[in-house]
Amino acid sequence: MLSPPPRDRPLPEFLRMATAIHWFRRDFRTRDNTALFTAAAEHDAVVGAFIIDPRWLGNPDKTGPHQTKFWLESLRELQASLAKLNIPLIIRTDRNPVRALLALARDVDAASITYNKEYEPDQIAMDERLEREAAPLGLKVQAYKDAAIFEEHEILTGSRTIYSVFSPYKRAYLARINSDGELAFTVRGLPRKSSRMIKAKSDPLNFPHGDVSLDLPPGEAAGLQRLEQFIANNVQHYRDQRDYPMLADHGGISRLSAYLNAGTISIRQAMHAAFQALTHASTKRPAQKAIDGSDPHTPRESTEHFISELIWREFYRMILFNFPHTVSKPFQDNYSHVTWANDPAHFKAWCEGRTGYPIVDAAMRQLAQTGWQHNRLRMIAAMFLTKDLDTSWVLGERFYMKSLMDYDQACNIGGWQWSASTGTDAAPYFRIMNPVLQSERYDPNGEFIRRYVPELRGVSKGFIHAPWLMPAEVQKAANCVIGKDYPAPIVDHHEAKERAVAKFRKPAAI
Ligand SMILES: Cc1cc2nc3c(=O)[nH]c(=O)nc-3n(C[C@H](O)[C@H](O)[C@H](O)COP(=O)(O)OP(=O)(O)OC[C@H]3O[C@@H](n4cnc5c(N)ncnc54)[C@H](O)[C@@H]3O)c2cc1C
Repeated sequence: MLSPPPRDRPLPEFLRMATAIHWFRRDFRTRDNTALFTAAAEHDAVVGAFIIDPRWLGNPDKTGPHQTKFWLESLRELQASLAKLNIPLIIRTDRNPVRALLALARDVDAASITYNKEYEPDQIAMDERLEREAAPLGLKVQAYKDAAIFEEHEILTGSRTIYSVFSPYKRAYLARINSDGELAFTVRGLPRKSSRMIKAKSDPLNFPHGDVSLDLPPGEAAGLQRLEQFIANNVQHYRDQRDYPMLADHGGISRLSAYLNAGTISIRQAMHAAFQALTHASTKRPAQKAIDGSDPHTPRESTEHFISELIWREFYRMILFNFPHTVSKPFQDNYSHVTWANDPAHFKAWCEGRTGYPIVDAAMRQLAQTGWQHNRLRMIAAMFLTKDLDTSWVLGERFYMKSLMDYDQACNIGGWQWSASTGTDAAPYFRIMNPVLQSERYDPNGEFIRRYVPELRGVSKGFIHAPWLMPAEVQKAANCVIGKDYPAPIVDHHEAKERAVAKFRKPAAI
């Protein structure tokens, strides 16, 4: 569907239509919300709607408890913020969100329904259904580009084809987004206040979310504050700190993903802040060496790298929109006949963080406890599952779907297919991460491992990355007998690597 142009200023009163419904999906914010802003500018009154679809929300097979809680608390904050704008947030529970929206439109006598577009195949199917069923009722449906700065076919190669490799896409993207120092997008403020608060029957704003605590405060205000603080204090070190899991709590990374994916902040707000930082980022190399002893990157290089990560997010949205089969099939066709061992015992050990490889186990336990996992660990854990344990990336992707607080189908599929070597820009099939070397490099003192794997707390730095190498008396002294207190490795990495390379060699050559 074509996005209508968003409105920057309210229509004069005599031109405004009566009532619009704005359908909140993953855009839980009042500021810089394109469809909400436009609905308020063009209508006398706006009614916010959120449909609880129990097939997803509160279903532990589809949505993780941390994400559900993050959403619920963000929605509660949103409801209060909207009330100040005379916009009610009406909740309806229905397995058929389109039916619920049309019923609400009837109840409040709405002239139109607005929403911000999403790019996942299921969401697109729902949009089409809404369009089809609203038309005979005389309801106008307006969909806006909001969740991406450049969407669908806006960035194409010179020969008008879809980019399937990130680097040239990024070059084209940067040329479009920032030509002559002018950014190609606007960050909007709050929507116009509705002239009256419309009342309608609402279900309670609640859904089951499990008994978990969040390690980040949800909502719009907290998201904006995190963005501001990261840009002011941390982005200048991003390039040198982003790979170290222990630095995640100290500004090594932004931790913005849950906010971006619930839409409590917009991609434009994040990109705008990053470009502002770039205009005054120093090109001088800091005096202090990087953690690994190498020359540190300049603040400018770090800020550019952060922008690049935000562009990955855009890239994966564009890929999923144009290649919807990648939800369950390889992006690269030549891997479509690859088979997987899918050993249930191995998969279970991986999910539970009991593989015998400390960095993998710490990563998986971090995921279970916090609903989040550091990017470096996502790569290590995903590659271990697909290559060492010969388990399909689809199983891993689904497990992350129901575990992550920041689950996003486009980024998750992109990350999993990268790790399995089947995606765009994928890791070459023969370059398989060694979990012990990764651990030594990115958790050199084993602090992260000890934090999440208490059985290994007594193990010294020399053995923490490969504890099975401890002689028997050292195991006893460390209170960690391998096979009793902590598992022996469930596979031999070197043998598994050879098997994986042999399996991928033939399809890779096609
Ligand atoms: C197997 C696997 C699964 C993943 N699943 C998800 C997912 O479900 N949801 C998700 O948002 N990200 C996913 N990622 C990407 C990345 O791990 C997270 O975006 C990142 O860890 C979030 O932390 P942050 O906000 O501190 O990131 P930062 O490093 O601070 O980056 C800033 C923002 O850039 C974007 N970004 C960063 N890295 C990537 C990337 N590799 N791909 C796409 N966008 C990126 C995110 O929006 C992120 O919030 C996955 C990566 C892998 C390897």
